[in-house]
Amino acid sequence: MGAFFNEELSFPPVHANFASSQEQLIRFSKNVHDNVHGNIYLDPLALKFIDTEQFQRLRDLKQLGVTHLVYPGAVHSRFEHSLGVYWLAGAAIQKLKQNQGLELGIDNFDIQTVKLAGLLHDVGHGPFSHLFEREFLPRVVSGCKWSHEQMSLKMVDHIVDEHHIDVDFEMIKKVKEMIVASSELTLPKGTREKHFLYDIVANGRNGIDVDKFDYIVRDSRACGLGCNFEFQRLMETMRVLDDEICYRAKEYLTVHKLFYTRADLYRTIYTHPKVKAIELMVVDALLKANDFLEISSSIEDPSDYWKLDDSIIKTIEIAPNQELKESRDLILRIRRRNLYQFCNEYTVPKENLEHFKDVTPQDIVCSQKNGGAILKEEDVAVSNVRIDLARGRHNPLERYLKKNRGISTWFKWVISFSIYNFHFSLQPLIFCFYYLFLFFPGSCLLPALTFSR
Ligand SMILES: [Zn+2]
Repeated sequence: MGAFFNEELSFPPVHANFASSQEQLIRFSKNVHDNVHGNIYLDPLALKFIDTEQFQRLRDLKQLGVTHLVYPGAVHSRFEHSLGVYWLAGAAIQKLKQNQGLELGIDNFDIQTVKLAGLLHDVGHGPFSHLFEREFLPRVVSGCKWSHEQMSLKMVDHIVDEHHIDVDFEMIKKVKEMIVASSELTLPKGTREKHFLYDIVANGRNGIDVDKFDYIVRDSRACGLGCNFEFQRLMETMRVLDDEICYRAKEYLTVHKLFYTRADLYRTIYTHPKVKAIELMVVDALLKANDFLEISSSIEDPSDYWKLDDSIIKTIEIAPNQELKESRDLILRIRRRNLYQFCNEYTVPKENLEHFKDVTPQDIVCSQKNGGAILKEEDVAVSNVRIDLARGRHNPLERYLKKNRGISTWFKWVISFSIYNFHFSLQPLIFCFYYLFLFFPGSCLLPALTFSR
């Protein structure tokens, strides 16, 4: 085990008391060795999905997009992350079954469904992480409502049909509901049977889910960022109360570390100014290549979409076509480290956060005119960076306080009123940060850009 693991808490202890079911799983499963979780055992139905060209495509999607061009170790793929989420989803539901199986009515159908949801939750992801859907598609498809979660649903159906996978229709329906659970926000109580099952992979109620457990540890390790968040502590103490997954009050600081490690990853790694500069260049390269390669035309049809991955950059780079010259030149600039130049950063004051709209190059040009400088829109590139603690402008720990007064042993949201007060002074007063990074796409040096609104 690596430096991020507490040996006492590392897996497989979560499974240790499931001798019969786990021994069977191990006996009849294939296994792969993962550098975060150790041996991951793959059940026969999961393997039917894994051994398809649509799932194997995830090997060619880097988990962190272009980040490896700044942090060379960040070359891990969506493939290993998906196996990790599959494994943790299985561990989480087995733990609940161990402690409360009879009371909650957890059966093999539930276990298999949650594991498949973990495995397939990212199967619709586009190239270069979130860049494809947030930066590229909105600029080539007007009114674009496309999301990788919705595409994952289409891909799941496509894999089942294409490979004639014999799987219960009801199970696939629930798998798809679990994949989009985090984007549905909080559903009213009683709308779903065993609602707690929908909190495991993509938790729309509190943001604590095994997807984050995996990527926070995996990304931190790949980039060399220290991580003392131990998801094992949460897995050991999770329990369902009132149809919602809860954690012990004493694990308050572990939940705190989850949200802060995630925010640290955003600030230090995902939104590093050089990463943002390269992302802007890749978006420009894709935009210039789109008419010729029709990159965006595949987003509705899974039978075309699975062919699209990070290798699109290599395709452009080595293509001889004159139509791709501008795009090719931009990629060459990335290769030769002639990047868009970072020239200024602006932090949005917290009192303006609520109504602050994304800033465009046109806004920056207008700001400069007031100062006398003459710029054109194509002289400026802007990256709007929002970082929050998974609950927008709200403190993700705040719900504990509201929901749990009077409950003494187990707490929804972990925390007791007195613990909250004790730690309050350690917390920042804002829970959402908004930065602007300003760049010059050109090669020559220009005076620093300014912005005011
Ligand atoms: Zn994921």
